[in-house]
Amino acid sequence: MEKKGHLIGGNWLEAADDEVIDIIDPSTGEQIGLLSAGGQAEIDKAVAAARNAISGEWSKLSPVERGRCLSRLGQLISENQEKLAAIEVQDVGKPLSQARNDVIACARYCEFYSGAVDKLHGQTIPYQNGFTVLTLREPHGVTGHIIPWNYPLQIIGRSVIGALAAGNAVVIKPGEDASLSTLFLGELTIEAGFPPGAVNIVTGYGEDAGAALAGHPGINHLSFTGSSRVGGLVQKAAGDNTVQVTLELGGKSPQVIFEDADQDLALPFVVNAAIQNAGQTCSAGSRVLIHNPIYEEFVGKLMRKFESLVVGPAMDDHDIGPLISLKQKQMVESYLSRTLDLQILAKGKFAASLPEKGFYVPPVLLGDVPPDHCLAKEEIFGPVLSIIRFRSEEEAVEIANNSRYGLVAGVWTNDGARQMRTAKALECGQVFINNYGAGGGVELPFGGVKGSGFGREKGMEALYGFTTLKTVAISHG
Ligand code: NAD
Repeated sequence: MEKKGHLIGGNWLEAADDEVIDIIDPSTGEQIGLLSAGGQAEIDKAVAAARNAISGEWSKLSPVERGRCLSRLGQLISENQEKLAAIEVQDVGKPLSQARNDVIACARYCEFYSGAVDKLHGQTIPYQNGFTVLTLREPHGVTGHIIPWNYPLQIIGRSVIGALAAGNAVVIKPGEDASLSTLFLGELTIEAGFPPGAVNIVTGYGEDAGAALAGHPGINHLSFTGSSRVGGLVQKAAGDNTVQVTLELGGKSPQVIFEDADQDLALPFVVNAAIQNAGQTCSAGSRVLIHNPIYEEFVGKLMRKFESLVVGPAMDDHDIGPLISLKQKQMVESYLSRTLDLQILAKGKFAASLPEKGFYVPPVLLGDVPPDHCLAKEEIFGPVLSIIRFRSEEEAVEIANNSRYGLVAGVWTNDGARQMRTAKALECGQVFINNYGAGGGVELPFGGVKGSGFGREKGMEALYGFTTLKTVAISHG
């Protein structure tokens, strides 16, 4: 069976036979390959290679040359769209059209940041007579990137491409359940002409390779995307070395539907935000708050839509594919076993032919969920949508904000004043009014408040995060 190695200093490093992870296709539950299980030794080598890159060839490239590397990478990603999408279908269990969208987004990050590289500049600051003061934007040096399994290509785009654009050399630790597209991207970075050591990839378990990267004294910045629990651990580990972190964590994002909302416009967005990638999305709109006067009407629309949804193998491109793993399936099922006191309003159906060992869970619509119920408060990471009723704008904002998370929110109303009031009152990093699209928009700064983390990726904001500012004060009389 093919065994995938690590990319370190421009070379592929073989795994020892006893250090491997099984790669499982979530649609069938069958093993499709083996992944190297790296640890401290491989992370040490990768960080050393990245440190060489920031004093070597990579650091000598001008911004425009760095931009051209990214531009070539974006082109190669687009040329390999079908190959990359097929990898995500098999490795992550993404329905084919959703996998294709991830590839398009990844290429788009390369396009955006390749054009932004030579527009990232400092300022001059008016100071005392006889002085010229300027600020320089400089790369941190070596940045570590710990990536989850749910959107490997989009999160590499958001996190790694911005860091490279800013001139850092990167060490990537992909999710152990979904590393194949990251490894394929590694091959494309070589073809695109990135100098050895600019991009390094170490696969492995979080508690081994991930912990080794988070606590490594040789990195200068850590970008972590994943669960709040692990986010806390890596923050502590990086803090011990005074390494700055960006934390992109979980969410329980609300969609708020007011009585004057255009319901037919909102419906597909609300459903898609809950079931996309089988609900395994940090910005999933996993609770929908509905204004009392339109409660029955909108719930009826949601029920009809949920009943029409089909779950099946990723390659067949149904509405919903399998969950990533048996563990994730059991976790979602354990949440659903806690719904006995709630009403299951609607359930989707399984496709006619379903591989017996695949990790399938049907989409479930629950209501009227009390705002304090665990199904209304906790991140389930499965295709489960909780409906909550509200009676006033104040109550809607209170329920929306009564969460440990604060990632994204959607507001549906045609009342302009209410749009602005709620956008300002909601505690989160992104608010969408009459749309919901955190997955798209590479230009839009993204990140959380409260338990959803801190720091911003995407857009120009990411480049500020992946650089440090140096002030130069010149006294010339
Ligand atoms: P996870 O926290 O278990 O794992 C994320 C990554 O951290 C993986 O690469 C894993 O190997 C690594 N890791 C695990 N333990 C580690 C440790 N002790 N030290 C260092 N690294 C370690 O999360 P997951 O299950 O892969 O992903 C799901 C979670 O990620 C959800 O909570 C979801 O909301 C969140 N997420 C957030 C965003 C966002 O942008 N805010 C995006 C995607 C996923």
